[in-house]
Amino acid sequence: MKIKTKLTLGVGLLFFLIVLLVALGVRQLHTLANDTENILVDNYNSLDYSRNMLKELDKIETDKQSLEKFQHYLELQSRNITEIGEKELTENLLEDSQTFLQQPDNKSVILLIRNDLNAIMKLNMDSIQRKSIVASQTADRAILWISITGSMCFIIAFTLLINLPSTIADPIKDLTESIRQIAGKNYSRRVHFEGHSEFGDLARSFNTMAEKLQEYSDSSLARLMMEKKRIETLINNMHDPVIGLNDTQKILFANEEALKISGLKSADIIGKPVQDIAVYNDLIRSLIQHLAGNSVDNSKNETLTIYADNKESYFEKQIVPIVITPTGETEKKEIGSFIILRNVTLYKELDYAKTNFIATVSHEFKTPIASMKMSLQLLENESIGSLNEEQQHLIASIKDDTNRLLRTTGELLNITQVETGKTQLEIEKSNVLQIVTEAVDATQKLAEQKNIKLFTAFPDTIPDVWADREKTTWVVSNLITNAIRYSYENASIQVQLSEDDSYVKIIVKDNGLGISSQYTGKIFDRYFRIPGSEKEGTGLGLAISKEFIEAQKGLITVESELGSGSTFTVFLKKAI
Ligand code: ADP
Repeated sequence: MKIKTKLTLGVGLLFFLIVLLVALGVRQLHTLANDTENILVDNYNSLDYSRNMLKELDKIETDKQSLEKFQHYLELQSRNITEIGEKELTENLLEDSQTFLQQPDNKSVILLIRNDLNAIMKLNMDSIQRKSIVASQTADRAILWISITGSMCFIIAFTLLINLPSTIADPIKDLTESIRQIAGKNYSRRVHFEGHSEFGDLARSFNTMAEKLQEYSDSSLARLMMEKKRIETLINNMHDPVIGLNDTQKILFANEEALKISGLKSADIIGKPVQDIAVYNDLIRSLIQHLAGNSVDNSKNETLTIYADNKESYFEKQIVPIVITPTGETEKKEIGSFIILRNVTLYKELDYAKTNFIATVSHEFKTPIASMKMSLQLLENESIGSLNEEQQHLIASIKDDTNRLLRTTGELLNITQVETGKTQLEIEKSNVLQIVTEAVDATQKLAEQKNIKLFTAFPDTIPDVWADREKTTWVVSNLITNAIRYSYENASIQVQLSEDDSYVKIIVKDNGLGISSQYTGKIFDRYFRIPGSEKEGTGLGLAISKEFIEAQKGLITVESELGSGSTFTVFLKKAI
């Protein structure tokens, strides 16, 4: 039966019985009131009149008004005939009273009247007794019916009280618990409400939903497992070692390459805190330095040298944080990270071969170029023989090319030294004025060729600096050479010296082509040349300069605006 029908029937029946109870009560009370009224009106009055008439009869000889009063009560009694036989008795009384009025001295008549009155009183007394029995029966009946109806009301209300709350609350409780289980991903949960009530329908709908959810969950779980396997295979087949960490720095996985180079076994590390593994494994220790806050910049790839594949191998360490936005949330959350080691051994080997080749070639070039330069100087010498104008022109041009060649081989040699880490610096207390003057002198001729004026502005006194004199002179001349090369003819270049608290600054300022802001960060990279740059060059000068200056704990910066010129500043540590 439907809950709604049950409720309607139960409450409806209760309502009907209450109405019935009220009606019954009202009716029985009404009957009782009638019975009482009957006794009062019908019999009590007759008794009262009769009693008063007897009283007046006693005083009739002494009190003249008594007769009048007697007649008055007689009159009232003759109008209050309610019982069977009362009429005849009242008529006898009237007759006897009439006789008494005609013969007031007849004592026997008074006796007759008294007898009549007693008869009337007895009749009414009997009637009262009878009616009170009827009223009592009515009251008993009322009590009986009200008790029956009240008991029925009680039984129904009690049944409703016992059954209804649990009929409604129990399924709701069961359903709430089942919903909680489903929310906790226990899709096997079912509810069983028997019968055809609304809860039965609800249970069927709920079970269908749970079944569908289970089906969906099973299918997506299988799909997820498949995807997991696919990704695991992919990671395992990668040639680069990969280690996955969760948000608490426990190892989630390590592919075969990672296990191979670290000499670890999967079973020994999976699920363990990476810090615990780092205690006994050097490689893992160097890989997780970023966790200890040693290397803050994760985007910058570090190169590690690891003995793998029976040779020294090079790996670029990359930390990739796994950042996700959880479903239903807006804030991003880091749930772990990957440590990827890119095997760059092959590139390193190629780079090493290239550096070696450049070093050998430039070294081999250096001696013949130097001898060519000497020969040219000899040719220029008048004592050997005079040259005509055209020959002098040719000699000048060959000299230019030889100088350029010498500069290029010098740069190539320098960069190979930097790349192989063989740069040897002789850092000593140096006179910066001497360095700058040497550089200005070395570039003076080049400036003259383009009719460029080199202006110098040096303070009277300038402190010494910690520097490798030769290499720093090379850097300053390279900056002045660049300033000349990237300036228009007839321009001017300023070479200045100044100082701050810890540094002496060498400033080379030109009003030449200038550098677009997108390239100012790149010009110090090796082999970088601004695209479309018409001047010849290797793109190495500034890279070497930066290496040299930074190796001396100095700094080199550029400020430039395209079309307005550039200012290069070298900061050298004061030797105090
Ligand atoms: P390069 O041999 O090409 O001059 P550098 O390393 O000395 O190599 O310079 C790198 C690039 O920076 C140059 O190709 C040039 O485009 C730019 N550059 C260097 N100095 C200046 C300057 N004073 N004015 C404008 N551009 C310059």
